[in-house]
Amino acid sequence: MQQNQVCFRTMHLDKPWSMEAYRSIGGYEVLEKILHEKTRQESIIETIKNSALRGRGGAGFPTGLKWSFMPRRMPGDKYIVCNSDEGEPGTCKDRDILRYNPHQLIEGMIIAGYTIGAQRGYNYIRGEFFEPMERFEQALAEARQAGYLGKNILGSGFNFELHAHPGAGAYICGEETALLESLEGKKGQPRYKPPFPAGYGLYGRPTTINNTETLASVPVILQHGADWFHELGTPNNGGQKIFCMTGHVNKPGNYEVPLGIPFAELLELAGGVRNGNKLKAVIPGGSSTPVVPAEAMMQTAMSYDGIGKAGSMLGAGSVIVMDETTCMVKALERIAYFYYEESCGQCTPCREGTGWLYRVIKRIENGEGRQEDLDRLVDVANNINGNTICALGDAAAAPVISFIKHFRDEFQYHIDHHRCLVDEPELKLNY
Ligand code: SF4
Repeated sequence: MQQNQVCFRTMHLDKPWSMEAYRSIGGYEVLEKILHEKTRQESIIETIKNSALRGRGGAGFPTGLKWSFMPRRMPGDKYIVCNSDEGEPGTCKDRDILRYNPHQLIEGMIIAGYTIGAQRGYNYIRGEFFEPMERFEQALAEARQAGYLGKNILGSGFNFELHAHPGAGAYICGEETALLESLEGKKGQPRYKPPFPAGYGLYGRPTTINNTETLASVPVILQHGADWFHELGTPNNGGQKIFCMTGHVNKPGNYEVPLGIPFAELLELAGGVRNGNKLKAVIPGGSSTPVVPAEAMMQTAMSYDGIGKAGSMLGAGSVIVMDETTCMVKALERIAYFYYEESCGQCTPCREGTGWLYRVIKRIENGEGRQEDLDRLVDVANNINGNTICALGDAAAAPVISFIKHFRDEFQYHIDHHRCLVDEPELKLNY
């Protein structure tokens, strides 16, 4: 199986982040062709639709369809915004695109700008990403010098400017409307939707927001064709995808492989479970996606549809592997604390509910759980779910519901015996 065919295709080159390296694999040729031939925007959107490229930030929404929502004939400013505020626990892919292939992202953003009728773009980069930010800015300077940015690009009459913007240090700024607020210089809090950004986005103008990996995939699709890209993956799940293998694996890291690869194969690529231990469970798409027990996971294909059938979501492709030594109560306590800490506080179910979830799980972990706590946790989580302004509320609820559904016995053991089951191997339940 071939790896690294899309966003990591410069990885084998010397200084893969440089303009020279990117040009050596045909970089910027697609943009030059589009501008030279004045390719119709509708035809670019059609190609992206046919490629079955789905948003790599977590939602998996079809990219071509998203682009088609932009009112291209409306006069006035429009924007393309790249979401590089990668903060989902378990995710570490976008930073590596910025570090090792920034020019492909820049080319993707210029093409996206041309297609949706935007003359300005912003890349909102997580504030802690010092080296990725430096690499991206350096690449921007090279692209500007080569004439790919600015006014009348390559004599085509198309004007496009692109800026990097450091993030404001909050997980919630990765939510697209909070990101726009933050970009406007305000406190990063999600907006009510509708209106959606395609109608009312940055500074109230039509805006398309895509993830880093999504935009960096665009030049490759247009270079090799929609069919080539689609066939890299599986029907309705086009392309290769970067999976961030984290947790209890021997070789953690980013793996760019075809969408639809069996999880068992991906696990093998990552060196298998550490110390030859038994796999216990996997969170397949980052901490906000439901946990899947080992047995079901080993039968699952790593695609949006495949993971959906296993009762979870592909999310950003952030695969958190947990072996038999993992205390599921402790793991859930850690996740619950994250969402409690990162709630922006705008809506009551999330602001108060995330705190309740964390405190109840913490007391179970501390051996002070009460018999009614498990039902209470599920009840609170169900009352957060779907009742908040943004998806952070759902993200806090999903792990709680799934951990208790699949590992209820372990939680019950903590309540009954005031101690952890995994510390007592002779009593281990049969997972
Ligand atoms: Fe803020 Fe949470 Fe409401 Fe989202 S769900 S707007 S993070 S309080």
